[in-house]
Amino acid sequence: MRRLILFDIDGTLLTTDGVAGRAFRAALETVFGTSGPARGYSFAGKTDPQIARDLLLAAGVEEPTIDARLPQVWQHYTPVLERDIDPAATKVFPGVRELTAMLHEHPDAILGLLTGNLREGARIKLAAADIDFNWFQVGAFGSDHAQRRELPALAINRAEERFGRRFEGKDVVIIGDTPLDVACGEHLGVRTIAVATGTYSEDQLRECGPDYLFASLADTQAVWRAIFD
Ligand SMILES: [Mg+2]
Repeated sequence: MRRLILFDIDGTLLTTDGVAGRAFRAALETVFGTSGPARGYSFAGKTDPQIARDLLLAAGVEEPTIDARLPQVWQHYTPVLERDIDPAATKVFPGVRELTAMLHEHPDAILGLLTGNLREGARIKLAAADIDFNWFQVGAFGSDHAQRRELPALAINRAEERFGRRFEGKDVVIIGDTPLDVACGEHLGVRTIAVATGTYSEDQLRECGPDYLFASLADTQAVWRAIFD
């Protein structure tokens, strides 16, 4: 009955109310002189390196230039994020505090993060939301790989290294707010819980076939059953 439960951050646990997106674009502008098209691009479900690459390619920046300077973007981004993020404007979604506390207390649950954020960005966002980063004992981040699809296996391997147990199939639970969260662990047969607290509606999320779908995580007992059924 053990479960490895991997939470997405933005749109799933919390929202920074646009602060993170602005810090991200400011870092791109500082390093590359552009942050790409101002509209028509959604960050949702994508990793930070993927977002940067997409925006810069759209602005006509050459691939080798992107590769060479991307580390500088991260050096600008995380300090600005840490400076500008406002705990008062960082909203934690309903049920998140209760659910993560319940799972943290449960001996058969290992909490983890599976997010497109850089590890440092994730730490800053959770700190602003007053969610304990250390509760999440396993993590796979945008700083580990630009493709979200590669992150579930990474989290599973890290859990095995740390706990000496291999989590497989439906013992691995991915909770996220976008079709990309639902799809990223499909090839591993993981359990997926979609939650419509981000930019996607319940109808849109239903189309991608998650195992469970919730409007929010507010009904913690129902989410708990979805995790452990
Ligand atoms: Mg998200």
